[in-house]
Amino acid sequence: MASASSGAPMRKVVDYELLFDCVHCGLCLEACPTYALKRAEMDSPRGRIYLMKALAEGRLPLDSDAARHLDLCLGCRGCETACPSGVHYGRLIEDARAFVEANYRRSLMDRTRRAIVNAIFPYPARLRALLAPLKSIERAGLRPALAAMLPRAMREWIELLPPLSGCADERAAMPPAADPGAPAVVVHHGCVAQVLANSENLASEAVLAAAGYRVVRMANTACCGALDLHSGNRDRALDFARRNVRMLAACGADAIISAASGCSTAIAEYGALLRDDPELAGLAKSVSATVRDLSALLLERGLPTMRKLECTVTFHDACHLVHGLGVREGPRKLLSSIPGVRLIELAESDLCCGSAGNYNLTEPEMARELARRKVDNIIATGADYVVMANPGCEFQIAAELRRRRANIKVIHLARFLAMALAG
Ligand code: SF4
Ligand code: SF4
Repeated sequence: MASASSGAPMRKVVDYELLFDCVHCGLCLEACPTYALKRAEMDSPRGRIYLMKALAEGRLPLDSDAARHLDLCLGCRGCETACPSGVHYGRLIEDARAFVEANYRRSLMDRTRRAIVNAIFPYPARLRALLAPLKSIERAGLRPALAAMLPRAMREWIELLPPLSGCADERAAMPPAADPGAPAVVVHHGCVAQVLANSENLASEAVLAAAGYRVVRMANTACCGALDLHSGNRDRALDFARRNVRMLAACGADAIISAASGCSTAIAEYGALLRDDPELAGLAKSVSATVRDLSALLLERGLPTMRKLECTVTFHDACHLVHGLGVREGPRKLLSSIPGVRLIELAESDLCCGSAGNYNLTEPEMARELARRKVDNIIATGADYVVMANPGCEFQIAAELRRRRANIKVIHLARFLAMALAG
């Protein structure tokens, strides 16, 4: 059983003054996926801010109800975009989660689930080792049979995995060298992404090279720390951030991107995360300042002539792309510039699909409800492709489309552009 804590009030963990930016207007409520589904104040941004304040002031204990309302938040930051008062909700919820992790004992099931995610996902070598037997099972055509035999919780995790035979998880050759004077760009290959979605990394490098950028690589890639920040593991997130700051600075790129928008946002916020680090505060700030979005870089230099692709596409806005980096128009402009492509707007395109880092692994029910809602909207467009710029959303949406046996292809923006560039 989970147990309540009578530990220190949260005031020592969250930046208490930030809570007062909220004027309780409620304009964020309809932008919040959990409020959209539950219609309950305590599962809205405003309700969670009330809750954090009550915890901070010691007026409420950190019991299972309080932890539940905070756990159910996706950290999607839709509320930040909607908020006219500039509430830093992302920072508040990350701090609140660190407090929950330090002061609340979860149920055994919950602890086990979280321990597995924390021990495996940020480490590509461990994830590869874990997936190796599954890859063989898949090659033998036995993956559906295996999934059918597993308990429900494990079956749902397996269902989320993309076909493993299609994962280009090796380090591929660098794209051809560009003009040595061209701006240098590095693609942060991520942790889960380099195992399960490396083709997105490689496609990003290929389209950047096609636009005339000089692609450079990091000597090593560590997890960006976003998974830990979302799970309340602040110390390890800081450790990952420090390692990345050093490695990103060492590769000398003029711009940093990631094929996973959650990673881009995390790196863009290293400056704030490490602001009190006596050694790295300045370097972290300059690394964060060089984070860019793929579409913005491509629009700046322009892509060579693309071949005609006669198809309809719709675009899903990944939360951290639209609410973290504020990128909405660039991907649409690029898609519309491909000859033959017709872009159909997606209803609720910026409502979270339920992936949200590791949320679909730790909160499968809510994640599944959001996936259903997202896929209903995607199917209603009648598009041939649903395009997005985040591998986690790809896995989540593709799994739901497979369950529906819907014939809509899920593809990362970089891979779609690479397909249009291929002769
Ligand atoms: S981060 Fe997303 S789920 Fe959490 S309160 Fe804000 S809008 Fe709701
Ligand atoms: S978070 Fe912003 S939009 Fe939401 S209630 Fe507070 S002030 Fe209003």
